[in-house]
Amino acid sequence: MPPSYTPGPGLCGVCAHVRVVRNRRGSTFFLCGLSETDSRFSRYPPLPVFHCEGFVAARPPEDGEGSGKATG
Ligand code: SF4
Repeated sequence: MPPSYTPGPGLCGVCAHVRVVRNRRGSTFFLCGLSETDSRFSRYPPLPVFHCEGFVAARPPEDGEGSGKATG
């Protein structure tokens, strides 16, 4: 049997509006917090999300972070 591939959540995985919900069976869901105040957004958007008008980075990268350069 070939290995299975599960795509990640895309933008929702790093968005300030997301709430990660886990059920008792161990499944993970990405709940969009904007859906509570803005009907344009789905409570559980189809994943992965590659483009979203409501996306806000959960934490902006700090200087040098993610540049591939070693620090220290
Ligand atoms: S605003 Fe967009 S990217 Fe952020 S959690 Fe909602 S659907 Fe995902």
